[in-house]
Amino acid sequence: MKTIIHRIPVMLTLSLILLFSLTSCSKEENSDTMIETITTKVVSPTEQPSTALPIVAPVVHSKITSTPIPTKIPTVVPTAVPTETPTKSPIAPPKADTAAQDDVSENHMIAIDAGHQTKGNNEKEPIGPGATTTKPKVSSGTKGTTTGVPEYKLNLVIALKVKKELIHRGYEVYMLREKNDVNLSNRERAEMANESGADLFIRIHADGSENSSVNGTSTLYPSKNNPYVSELSHGSYTLSKAIVDAMCERTGAKNRGAIARDDMSGINWCNIPVSIIEMGYMSNKKEDKLMQTAEYQDKIVQGICDGIDDYYN
Ligand SMILES: [Zn+2]
Repeated sequence: MKTIIHRIPVMLTLSLILLFSLTSCSKEENSDTMIETITTKVVSPTEQPSTALPIVAPVVHSKITSTPIPTKIPTVVPTAVPTETPTKSPIAPPKADTAAQDDVSENHMIAIDAGHQTKGNNEKEPIGPGATTTKPKVSSGTKGTTTGVPEYKLNLVIALKVKKELIHRGYEVYMLREKNDVNLSNRERAEMANESGADLFIRIHADGSENSSVNGTSTLYPSKNNPYVSELSHGSYTLSKAIVDAMCERTGAKNRGAIARDDMSGINWCNIPVSIIEMGYMSNKKEDKLMQTAEYQDKIVQGICDGIDDYYN
């Protein structure tokens, strides 16, 4: 009897130990499964795509951002990819593409105005903020004395080629107009360029003169004494000088230099560095004809873009 009584606590202790080890075992199992479920639920694909979902291909991750439940990814992705990826996806894709997007955002935006339009607008507007002097809103420009091509048409042809080349060189481009039949005053054009977020404004024009022997390329910028935009003088001069030099290097045209002008509404309403590019004289037989050839146009375009590159270098 005594021994049995003695053994009761021992048995109790043993059974308690057994019971404890059993429950702690099941607890560990439980907590393991809990950790697993927490991991899959908490780690969202947007935060940890590569570690949480190692099987999913990298391209897919950009789409996961919009997919809250990971299990739905395979069905959502195939339909989403073809429609959204071709040009610029609004959702930043991984590594390579993200780097490309960063590069673009680091680059500069250039506003391009193809001077004039099909019909001029003779209504008046002040030539600058607070100015009492007024000028017609926009003229129809000059015209090739030999080719008969109107300036507004040539300007747009060149502007569109400059756009293409600048984009090719990694710039962003804002076009003031992409057709001839518009009604935009010079003040409005400057304000559009200001509001576009562009860093620079180039205005593409061609010259005319009573004297048909006059030829060559020039660029126009506001002087240091300009009553409206003197603060833009330095940057605009640097830009204008770089462009006219680079153009003449490409085309071999006479370099008439960067010329200060304070009476241009399209300059005086600007708040970013601006240059008016007078590509050549449409009143000069040789330049008029040259400016209608694709080969010479390409030289002009390369020259303008070289000048913009030079401005930043
Ligand atoms: Zn013009």
